[in-house]
Amino acid sequence: MKILVINSGSSSLKYQLFDMEKEYVIAKGLCERIGMEGSLLRHRPADGKPVVYEEAMPNHVSAIKLMFRALTASEGGVIKNMDEIGAVGHRVLHGGDKFSASILIDEAVKDAIRENIPLGPLHNPANLMGIEACENVVPGVPQVAVFDTAFHQTMPEKAYIYAIPQKYYTKYKIRRYGFHGTSHRYVSARTLQLLGRTENTRIITCHLGNGSSIAAIKDGKCIDTTMGLTPLEGLMMGTRSGSIDPAIVWYISEIENISAAEVVSMLNKKSGALAVSGFSSDFRDIEDAIENGDERARLTLDMFEYSIVKYIGAYAAALGGVDAITFTAGVGENSPLSRESIINQLSFLGLKIDPEKNKVRGRETDLTAEGSSAKIYLVPTNEELMIARDTKNIVCAN
Ligand code: ADP
Repeated sequence: MKILVINSGSSSLKYQLFDMEKEYVIAKGLCERIGMEGSLLRHRPADGKPVVYEEAMPNHVSAIKLMFRALTASEGGVIKNMDEIGAVGHRVLHGGDKFSASILIDEAVKDAIRENIPLGPLHNPANLMGIEACENVVPGVPQVAVFDTAFHQTMPEKAYIYAIPQKYYTKYKIRRYGFHGTSHRYVSARTLQLLGRTENTRIITCHLGNGSSIAAIKDGKCIDTTMGLTPLEGLMMGTRSGSIDPAIVWYISEIENISAAEVVSMLNKKSGALAVSGFSSDFRDIEDAIENGDERARLTLDMFEYSIVKYIGAYAAALGGVDAITFTAGVGENSPLSRESIINQLSFLGLKIDPEKNKVRGRETDLTAEGSSAKIYLVPTNEELMIARDTKNIVCAN
């Protein structure tokens, strides 16, 4: 069975076509600048040369049509026709409190994704456009929604309720939802396999990329996570501030005479590592600058690691101990420096990382040193594969 996985953004659309027999990516690609001048599609078949289509994509329907043309073309094509695609899996940002698992898309599911637009104003409309464009271009092919929030729906009330007047929860659904759920689910399931058991397990998954979050997972179920109503809460990130005193929003809007929405946009896009370093949101640049003696870069990395260390400590307490800590995503998979520093700052918990095994990037590895109180792993994340698996399972069960 072949499954197409789509991540539809407001002006971009990423896709991967999987052959599920061997869980192998046959082709992938990216449509950029949808609805703008200079739109293009970069298509990459697994066996063969990449093909670039510089064609106008005024909307998502035209992007999906061009994607199917690329998938079936004589140059770079990987299938004969669209009938070969058994189902389409969509990444959807916000499922609110309606979805605790992936689901076959029908009108009611689309309505629910629409209802959650206030909670995911940038992503949910774009995700819906991708779904509706597929319905238009390949009608009859089953489609599945995989939500970024779903895995965190097992959190207990004490972790997801904010201590603010409860009408904001009951009336407007303001609560912690958490994000990167598909990544935390994939990585935690793999961690349980590596541990060799599911019962009585306490694991902490650290998704450290441009956007970063940590989850506390007990017996395979999420009990807490750092992101909140939106992805702004929790760790310091590439361009996001992470948790700050909420009164800062009011204070800056008063003294600068700008709206709260503008302050929140600044906290999302112009803060974090970018703001503290003063030159980059990319942790590769930060590490390079530290090598050259840049003190702001040193402070940036110290703050990033400090926020991670604090949450791991908090989640070790929430879980009543820890059996495994797993690193994933851009920084987690590729920065031995940060992994070592973070674990060394947690040595009071008995955690020990092996510096030799830790000299690795992007490959699944047991990083645990002898005598460590818990396992330490690097597990590369694969959200697309998780979406493809869910899609296959749901379509085959229906
Ligand atoms: P996103 O949140 O956009 O999916 P990724 O998980 O791809 O992000 O992570 C991207 C980030 O990973 C980059 O911004 C960069 O900071 C970091 N990164 C990638 N490679 C390295 C590396 N070798 N060393 C340190 N950081 C890295």
